[in-house]
Order: sequence, then structure tokens, then C-alpha cells
Amino acid sequence: MINLSELRDRRAAVLARIVAAAERAGRPAEDVTLIAVTKTWPAELVIAAHAAGLSHFGENRPEELAAKRPAVEAALGPANGITWHLIGPVQSRKAGLAAAHADVFHALEREKIARRLAAERPAGRPLPCFIEVNVSGEAEKHGLDVARWEVDATQVAKLRKMISETSAHPGLPVVGLMTMAPWEATPDEIRAVFRRTRALAAEVADLFPSAGGPLLSMGMTDDFEIAIEEGATHVRVGRALFGEREK
Ligand SMILES: *Cc1c(COP(=O)(O)O)cnc(C)c1O
Repeated sequence: MINLSELRDRRAAVLARIVAAAERAGRPAEDVTLIAVTKTWPAELVIAAHAAGLSHFGENRPEELAAKRPAVEAALGPANGITWHLIGPVQSRKAGLAAAHADVFHALEREKIARRLAAERPAGRPLPCFIEVNVSGEAEKHGLDVARWEVDATQVAKLRKMISETSAHPGLPVVGLMTMAPWEATPDEIRAVFRRTRALAAEVADLFPSAGGPLLSMGMTDDFEIAIEEGATHVRVGRALFGEREK
């Protein structure tokens, strides 16, 4: 596992790349939240990464989040300033774990899950959600199918319905859209997916009452700079910070 001084260097390098990408886009770098994706890594890595200055962590499985968060809190205390992002899809039998342990959920794609999360979420502790959208149309991708949204009004209507029905639960404010770039795509194809996601968010922006408009969770190690150039407010970065995962 990576040591503290290397973690500091990796964090600084990723932040510098975020700043440069934001500058190219004429955006303030403070508008971009770096989520350090710690899936498959032990709680000790989160504790070291926190010491290195990272404070947003991403897990893709509810059961892993449910094990890691308490382990980190046992070491750092519950008021540690960490925000835990659940970035992977949730099956209904795991909704309770997600509702108990996530601070932000990035991968809402079904009404049924929204209902389960709303029922399980402790009162007075809203869970901000991103709706995951599949813009590339890849079959293996999660998310609401919006691959043809520009020409298929029913796809936009379905997204609008999911946003309004989710936000109708007081505990589940929808804050934006999340997407993943296609695998094995050229930088231009990846850019097009991010750009189309941003345009879709603009299309439904009236459903987001918050002042800044819809947030955009997009960009990973291989494409976070393109995502920032195309408007990402949250990038989910694992390997560039922590190296290759073993599993
Ligand atoms: C694993 C994962 C990431 C981070 O991927 P890297 O390529 O390691 O940066 C981002 N988002 C999701 C949904 C993931 O599952």
C-alpha cells in the first residue's frame, strides 16, 4: 500500500491537473470536488489519505462502505470531516446499508431504490442523490437509458419523472446527474458523452431549485480532465491517487 508522503505527492499532482483543466475551461477549480475512490482498499488507506489532506471518499459497494466507514470512524472519531460518497448501484436488499452509511449517492437509476432509500433513511438526515444516466448506450453500463435523448422525448420525460418523484421524498434531494464514459473510446467520443450529459442536465435544469443548477458527477482516472473541461463538478478518482487495485 502506498505511503503517506507518496499519497501527498499523488494528491498534489491530481489537484494540479484539476486546476489546469478548470483553467482551460474558464471555471473556478473550487467548483470541482475530488472524490478519492477507495474501493477494494482497506480502512488504513482511507486514514492515510485523510492525513494527506483528502476528505471526500468514494465506495462502489454498500457492504464495503458499511464496513469501512465505522472502521475509519473508530480511528478518527465520528466528527472527522469526511464525506462518504456511494458511487455504485444499489440493489434493493442493500438499500438499508446504503441509507445508513452514505452521505451522498451517485448512482440512482430506479424508482424502487429511491422508495427503499427514502423508507430506510433516518429522518432529518437527507441523502443527496445523483441520477445515473447512460448516455453512451453501452449495454453493460448502468443508468437510466438516455442514449437518444436529443431525438427521443420519452427518454427525457422518464428522466424528468425520476427526478421529480425522487425529490418528492423529503429525504432524497436530487442534486444532479452522474455518468460514466464508454470503455475503449477515443477522447473525442468520451468528450461527446460528457458534453451530452451536461446538455441533458441543462434541459432538465428547471427541476433543480438549487442556485448553482444541476451538479455533474463525471470523470475518473483516465478522463477526469476532459470531464472538467465539459463541466464536471465531481470527479471520482481512484488509480491516479492510490495505484492499481488488486481485485
Ligand atoms: C472505480 C470507480 C471509479 C474510479 O475509477 P479509477 O479509474 O480508479 O479512477 C469511479 N467511478 C466509479 C463508479 C467507480 O466504480
